[in-house]
Amino acid sequence: MKGTSEFRRGGPDDPLANEIMIQKGLSEIPLFRKDSPKTRKFDVNAVMHRWTAYTPLRDGRVNDTQPEGSDPAQISALIKAKGLELGGSDIGFAELTSTMINVGSEFKPRYIISIVVAEDYGKVLDGALAVEREAFEVYVECARISTELAAYIRSLGFSAIADHNGTGEIMAIPALLACGMGELGKHGSLIHPDFGAGFRPGFVVTDAPIIAGKANIFGVQDTCEKCRICEQNCPPGAIRSSEDYIVTEGVKRWQVDTATCYEASRFRNEYCHICVDVCPYQHKVNRDPDRKSIYKTLMKKRKIAGYRTPAWFIEDEETVLGAGD
Ligand code: SF4
Ligand code: SF4
Repeated sequence: MKGTSEFRRGGPDDPLANEIMIQKGLSEIPLFRKDSPKTRKFDVNAVMHRWTAYTPLRDGRVNDTQPEGSDPAQISALIKAKGLELGGSDIGFAELTSTMINVGSEFKPRYIISIVVAEDYGKVLDGALAVEREAFEVYVECARISTELAAYIRSLGFSAIADHNGTGEIMAIPALLACGMGELGKHGSLIHPDFGAGFRPGFVVTDAPIIAGKANIFGVQDTCEKCRICEQNCPPGAIRSSEDYIVTEGVKRWQVDTATCYEASRFRNEYCHICVDVCPYQHKVNRDPDRKSIYKTLMKKRKIAGYRTPAWFIEDEETVLGAGD
């Protein structure tokens, strides 16, 4: 099956990021600067090398024998248990469709498995660098778990190919939606009932006979109609109003203004994850008292900092772009 989803290549080669870099008269995208103060504490490029190290292991030899009967319920249970044992926070299954595959990529297997790994929400109280480090470390975990799960499925006698940040052939949102991993929020990220949008994904495409799940609709999009928290906290105002949406394959999508978001998320030394962290779904469904307490503390800090334009945002603007330029 050939992919039909147009995609943006992330990282320093992203054409949109390069366009903004030229407009700003910069020679590099600050997030990837190797000489920025943060590299003394956290080298983004070194972490990226850790997830790309899993790329050559994404596929391999398939065992000649399969479990007796190969009952889909039994195979699904085995795979789910293994994925959770490897460190996945939740796992779902769906039929693979062309919209889940990026243009230029092609897969033969019939099914897709989504593995999500939750981020430690408590990092939001340690600042933007701690949040960034956590996100990148969780991406490495997603690469490891999807690679090891694919190897396990091949050991059961079925084809299985891992996909993660080091390979980038799967379009995450349609795959996660179909696998029942959550609902799309106004901030453009998928919201899981247990972790909000605070997770990262990995995938496996496979011919193992598994039972496809279904979308998990639990009221997020209705809430987003009335809630404006991410909209009001986004530093550059990249999140559009509740009335400004399109519908794709029956799913409402508020399109974040990517160029505006990049100005805050890639053209400063500080990582921006604010829309995800201020979303009440961090605690709204799971009702976890620890998550609720972290949320309340974070929102108090944001109130003091000025919600949309906290002090760090202005300071970083001056550091990276030069005051008054
Ligand atoms: S990542 Fe930051 S700038 Fe981008 S949409 Fe979210 S809050 Fe706004
Ligand atoms: S903060 Fe509110 S509007 Fe934004 S995604 Fe979460 S629930 Fe929806």
